[in-house]
Amino acid sequence: MGKQISAIRGMNDLYGSEVEAFDYLLTQAQQTLQQYGFQSIRLPIVEKTELFARSIGEVTDIVEKEMYTFEDRNGDSLTLRPEGTAGCVRAMIQNGLIHNQIQKLYYSGPMFRYERPQKGRYRQFHQFGVEVFGVNDVDIDAELIALSARLWDKLGLDKLELQINSLGSQEARSAYRDKLVAYLTEHKDQLDEDSLRRLESNPLRILDTKNPDMKSVVDKAPKLIEHLDTESAEHFANLKAYLDDLGIEYVVNPNLVRGLDYYNRTVFEWITTELGAQGTVCAGGRYDSLVEQIGGKPTPAVGFAMGIERLTALLQDKALVPSQALADIYVVLVGDKVHRPGLVISEMLREALPDLKVQMNCGGGSFKSQFKKADKSDARYAIVLGDQEVENQQVAVKPLREDAEQTLVSWDGLAAYLQARFD
Ligand code: ATP
Ligand code: MG
Repeated sequence: MGKQISAIRGMNDLYGSEVEAFDYLLTQAQQTLQQYGFQSIRLPIVEKTELFARSIGEVTDIVEKEMYTFEDRNGDSLTLRPEGTAGCVRAMIQNGLIHNQIQKLYYSGPMFRYERPQKGRYRQFHQFGVEVFGVNDVDIDAELIALSARLWDKLGLDKLELQINSLGSQEARSAYRDKLVAYLTEHKDQLDEDSLRRLESNPLRILDTKNPDMKSVVDKAPKLIEHLDTESAEHFANLKAYLDDLGIEYVVNPNLVRGLDYYNRTVFEWITTELGAQGTVCAGGRYDSLVEQIGGKPTPAVGFAMGIERLTALLQDKALVPSQALADIYVVLVGDKVHRPGLVISEMLREALPDLKVQMNCGGGSFKSQFKKADKSDARYAIVLGDQEVENQQVAVKPLREDAEQTLVSWDGLAAYLQARFD
């Protein structure tokens, strides 16, 4: 026997109830997005490294230390995508999809970040992403939040907290940056190593620190939200008015700055306290300068990404995933002459009753063991085919979930007989 080979740390196989929850979430999310007129897009998993360096920002956790970057056989530097927005923007520009038009898109798939694996934090994880290009007005920011709220509602998740903030315009931010640096420099002794480094390169990111020892210095720092440019302040006030109209509760968190550099104005996160430290299940905001930054015509944009693993864990913890029966009808085959007609009958049922799950017992087994499998499959009926039934062109239909006798039914009438029972 050869030595076993295991998967890479932080890159998980998804199976069983976890993948059931995963698929359920994706289906509900897709349905919700379609309800709002969004279209699907599928993008490459690998892009040129430069795309991420330029869009996410050189001085971010992701670009500094989390990317899976490698040279291909041609010597080009490529990166497994750590997030979906950069690739989506690249695709919009390259395919000429955002010139004088609005695009409303969603996608899902694996993302890769070299992080310390723990609950809710993996090296290969999945996001469901949503992006809108070409809308300046705050109505779209509000609609994105509304549709995420609708999805939580549909899923039965009622305890998520919405945090919002505004990062203002680039100009307002750079004026604020000076104030922040002055304040933080005064309190240098309270900064950790990461923050000291960031003080020069990317001081705003210090506000996003997860280090509890820095809470007090960060809490007392000047707030960007109090130094917004007039237009951004109005944009933010309007966002709050829309949310009030819709009855969507929110908390303004002035320290919410997000881990990627491309955001401006609206940023938001949906947070749960029920998953421990990894509580953000959905995060996004506006990124009006990104399209131009990577070579397109200036185009306003806004989007968000949901962390599928974190949401799946929440759905499973709260038993919110509807259970999926493996079969509605289980075909039991006992005898020497039953296998060929058994497959023909099963296919006939699948043709006639496409909404039902028909599982045929493959691989033989005793009457008893086949019935055990039928019971485990959650099927409501077992169809039993023995040599005697084949002779008479009949099957026995046995109810598995109610106390009732089995009935002999002719092959011709079987589909109609079952149809009537499932209506
Ligand atoms: P965090 O602060 O938790 O590291 P982030 O700001 O890096 O999150 P984003 O880049 O905004 O995360 O990604 C959007 C969402 O994707 C997150 O809110 C989270 O739900 C999920 N996510 C991000 N990184 C991971 C990961 N390594 N494993 C699992 N889910 C993740
Ligand atoms: Mg992160």
